[in-house]
Amino acid sequence: MIAITSKQFKDDYVKMFEQVYAYNYQEGTRREQFEVLGSLIKKYYMKDWKKTIEAYKENKEKQVYYFSMEFLPGRMLKSNLWNLGLTSVVATGLAELGLDLDEVAEGEVDPALGNGGLGRLASCFMDSIASNGLSGHGNGIRYRYGLFKQKFIDGYQIELPENWLRNGNVWEVRKENKAVIVRFGGNVVMEQDEAGNLYPRYEHTRNILAVPYDTPQVGFRNGNMNNLRLWSAEIPYGEEYLFRTEEERDEVKQITEVLYPDDSNYEGRRLRIKQEYFFSSAGVQSIIRYFKTLEEDWSLFPDKIAIHINDTHPALVVPELMRILLDEEGLSWEQAWEITKKTISYTNHTILQEAMERWNIEMIQSLLPRIYQIIEEINRRHIEKKIPLYGEELTYRTAILQDGQVHMANLAIIGSHSVNGVARLHTDILMEQTLRDFYIMYPNKFNNKTNGITHRRWIHIANPGLTRLLDDVIGEEWKSNPDELKLLKAFANDKEILKRIEEVKLANKKRFAAYVKEEKGIEIDPTAIFDVQIKRLHAYKRQLLNVLHILDRYNQLKDQPDMTMPKRVFIFGAKAAPSYHYAKQIIKLINAVAELVNNDQEMKDQIKVVFVENYGVSLAELIIPAADVSEQISLAGKEASGTSNMKLMANGALTMATMDGANIEIHEAVGNENMYVFGLSNEEVQSYYENHTYHSRNLYEGNPRLKRVLNMLIDGSIPGLHDEGQDIFDSLIKFNDEYFLLKDFDSYLQAQRHVDQDYLDREKWNKMALMNIAQSGRFSADYTIQRYAEEIWLLHPRVAEAKS
Ligand SMILES: *Cc1c(COP(=O)(O)O)cnc(C)c1O
Repeated sequence: MIAITSKQFKDDYVKMFEQVYAYNYQEGTRREQFEVLGSLIKKYYMKDWKKTIEAYKENKEKQVYYFSMEFLPGRMLKSNLWNLGLTSVVATGLAELGLDLDEVAEGEVDPALGNGGLGRLASCFMDSIASNGLSGHGNGIRYRYGLFKQKFIDGYQIELPENWLRNGNVWEVRKENKAVIVRFGGNVVMEQDEAGNLYPRYEHTRNILAVPYDTPQVGFRNGNMNNLRLWSAEIPYGEEYLFRTEEERDEVKQITEVLYPDDSNYEGRRLRIKQEYFFSSAGVQSIIRYFKTLEEDWSLFPDKIAIHINDTHPALVVPELMRILLDEEGLSWEQAWEITKKTISYTNHTILQEAMERWNIEMIQSLLPRIYQIIEEINRRHIEKKIPLYGEELTYRTAILQDGQVHMANLAIIGSHSVNGVARLHTDILMEQTLRDFYIMYPNKFNNKTNGITHRRWIHIANPGLTRLLDDVIGEEWKSNPDELKLLKAFANDKEILKRIEEVKLANKKRFAAYVKEEKGIEIDPTAIFDVQIKRLHAYKRQLLNVLHILDRYNQLKDQPDMTMPKRVFIFGAKAAPSYHYAKQIIKLINAVAELVNNDQEMKDQIKVVFVENYGVSLAELIIPAADVSEQISLAGKEASGTSNMKLMANGALTMATMDGANIEIHEAVGNENMYVFGLSNEEVQSYYENHTYHSRNLYEGNPRLKRVLNMLIDGSIPGLHDEGQDIFDSLIKFNDEYFLLKDFDSYLQAQRHVDQDYLDREKWNKMALMNIAQSGRFSADYTIQRYAEEIWLLHPRVAEAKS
């Protein structure tokens, strides 16, 4: 633990600033002020970091390595200060120097090294692993450019490069001494050693240097510091002569140049598989190197190491670990396979077929010849072993190699000892449908681990007003044990507490309204309902259904201007994958509807639509504490879990939900009376699919209110809308509305009417908000991680308990 007085801190800060810049901190830019503060904090915690590393090496404790193609950590300053217990010392010290912590914190860039939920989950998990006192480390890619920066021009999404490293990154440490070589291409020749054993020799490979950049992951006030290791691709030292042309040098740089801005469709792109192998191989090599320092027998590998793969992007760890054990360490196939399976576990994140990763065999074969041989052999043995047990038909459906492709999920399942889904419904669907054949083969591999969020970032830091209120009312223990938020329930009828909850919410809404005014020039009334949908733009998430509701509400207000209902501000934040044409059309539609509604004098501020640009973690931290309604309206059976639903409920927003993903578990926690549930169930959706009885045109023809709304897309009612209106209309009518929006339209409107009624009853509303906050503890990633540790990784806390 770091003990420092604010006087000491001030002296250090002033001195360090001058040492770095040779001028006074007051003359520094916000970024410089941040950078020096970050460097100073890093200096303070380095000793703890070193101690943690030494301790686990000495005790030879089991380590888990969390492999993820994406990490979406958000700004780290406040989180580090908070977890180190330095927030108030630093805030006070800065204030005495005439600086404001909140302002200085904005000098940090928000590294967008992930697309959305999957990357954010990885970062919440890193925080919880450290805070639970576990030894667990992240392994990923240090992208030179993060997810694109989004701008709207004329309502259309424009993508700009996100050069987040322009001014360096204070938290990372480049560790050249830990670099490894990753090999691509070439060919494999089998040779005999003196004893006559065959072994593979790799020829003419392209060697790439993988250099790690390490960032400590600070546990919540427990002195535990784990490591997030992100790899960067470089030309190996002394081999510059092998990369003579610009093109050859570029090929190396490309590997860690950009994050793929598409989190659900994977077109066959060579570069992507290169990225995947690059960080998988580098990570496994560095784990092997660590294990060898322990001087233990190979059979103990799974007792010392757990490797977890976040989705299938790192699934090549299976053949890579095999390769090293076989070719470099000389183990037998049987020994190596036993170790591999016992070490690796896998999380599946999707049920969308189009998001299941598959790669062309030829591509893998030419890019990774030895890896491909190993995959072939895994596949051959799998089939040979399973046919007598399950017959040919079922067995071949589970093959890794099928129709000229490598099926990454099949590789991950066969090569691991645990497969988990991310919410109960999702896991059930995996077992009953998507991965049914595997479930028959390996019933014991399957388990559910419902996602979670860290309350530290999403309440303690994002919502200090609520944090203070909670501390006052239920004491501070909830911070280390979020289940204690339940204590709040005792105050559900306490008028004074309910009033305070409302005041906190109002203050957060004012804070966001000021941002909207500043950034978008739109005035919004902080007493209106803030109705929030923030997530990637995807057809299955149904932002379009939200738009249909807005248009209907607009029509109702046009018809009956003196109708009384509370004002609403519809808030959207969403990026669309650059190649996802339909999603980009929806963005344009939302912006066009915003123009229509916001500028219609007759609306008298009854409805406003705000679409924030460049949604990411920092904006989420601003929007979520200000939300009244959380839109979680995906078609049932499509959203694996969702985590914005959890963040929003924890901040007292009421969920408008379909029975999908973790919404079902939220419903279980808060009950019908504290949530707005509508729409088709998963079973109903399935039965429509099976019976082919869905006809969207009939719904359109039979529902005048709906018809009027849909016609607005094509009759020029929405200014500035071009082809996208017709295309969206066609998707709903001509192409039979793949996501059943029209079917759910009526029940959605009805649920929205209940929101209006309830919001007018302030006490009722505040009580519902309170119940949501109180029940959000079970969605803490701390508990999710405890279950991963106990049931999958078999890992025990090295620090007995987080101290608050
Ligand atoms: C939590 C989070 C997500 C995930 O949102 P879902 O609604 O669960 O898809 C995406 N992006 C950011 C920045 C987040 O913080």
